[in-house]
Amino acid sequence: MDEKSFKDSPDSKTRREFLKIAGTVSLIYSIPHKSGQNKEDSTIKRARYYRKLPDKKVQCLLCPWQCVVREGQKGHCQVRRNIHGKYYSLVYGRVSAYHVDPIEKKPFFHFLPSTNAFSIASVGCNVDCKFCQNWEIARRGLKDVPFAKLTPEYIIKYAKISGCRSIAFTYNEPTISTEFNYDVAALAKENNIHSVVISNGFINKKPLQDLAKVIDAYKVDLKAFDQSYYTNIVHGELKPVLDTIVNLKSEGVWTEIVYLTVPTLNDDPLKIKAMARWIKNEVGPDVPVHFSRFYPRYKLKNLPPTPVATVERLRNTALDVGLNFVYIGNVPGHKGENTYCPNCGKPVIRRIGFEVIENRLKNGKCPYCGNKLPGFWEG
Ligand code: SF4
Repeated sequence: MDEKSFKDSPDSKTRREFLKIAGTVSLIYSIPHKSGQNKEDSTIKRARYYRKLPDKKVQCLLCPWQCVVREGQKGHCQVRRNIHGKYYSLVYGRVSAYHVDPIEKKPFFHFLPSTNAFSIASVGCNVDCKFCQNWEIARRGLKDVPFAKLTPEYIIKYAKISGCRSIAFTYNEPTISTEFNYDVAALAKENNIHSVVISNGFINKKPLQDLAKVIDAYKVDLKAFDQSYYTNIVHGELKPVLDTIVNLKSEGVWTEIVYLTVPTLNDDPLKIKAMARWIKNEVGPDVPVHFSRFYPRYKLKNLPPTPVATVERLRNTALDVGLNFVYIGNVPGHKGENTYCPNCGKPVIRRIGFEVIENRLKNGKCPYCGNKLPGFWEG
């Protein structure tokens, strides 16, 4: 549908109203309940990844928990339910927030720089990080988070009207709403809009392979290179996340890694050295790695923000190991936000926060030495 027909459709916002919401509001916009739009059964859809077990139990095969769920019960993520021995997603089209974000905010630094991503969220998560930045939608119960029921067609229309080059599945964990995200991304592809996922990487191989057919880029939060941190702080598992990073490489999906650096808990340079070596050996030195500063949030309010010197030290450690693109996040104006050509060392993209202030790449090549930089520079 073109812009005019979208504008004219009776159940939609006008372009002006939409841009007011999506383009200028600086916080995530939570969609209020609307009469007739918040019935839970309207967001129920048969799950794609599960198997039936005796006694009307099912086993979910979407993420590494592989929950075995009795009739009438929900899985660990609380957004999938066994109904009479069949398994269902409860969040199909259940959109709790949407917003137009610069792609650099995701963060993607090697994916269509300076473009906007139409960013949508659902509800819930399959892990429970003590520092969760979006706990209001990721950790609250399904019934406590306002939402609107949106179709893939609506998402595409909203993305088009706001001039976005991509759809971003973000804010809460996209893995657990994979049925809806797949349908949105497939439709986006038909409309020449890209799709990106911002994820904890805790997903099984088969659903990831299916998603890879319609997703262009994946940002994986590698939260530590240490199972005890995953056990105590994330309530998850490290190994499946590492597998996801390797599988994304095999599937040819552009991948960037974010490492949220929490003071005293995951800032040991020796572990960072081991992680950087693993990345270099398993997926190569060109995968961008972002060391982000932590700010106290959710259940980790007792810790201070990460000192800038700490993320600088970890960045230098990863560069010394031989990673080519190591960034610093949440320190606007820091030189570690820029992209440097690994061949000649000159800055080729300069950033301040989420804004690109200069991009000197020509067809993805360094203008000084002609070196081709890895990334997704064109649509
Ligand atoms: S997606 Fe949810 S229900 Fe399925 S295995 Fe993971 S936590 Fe369990």
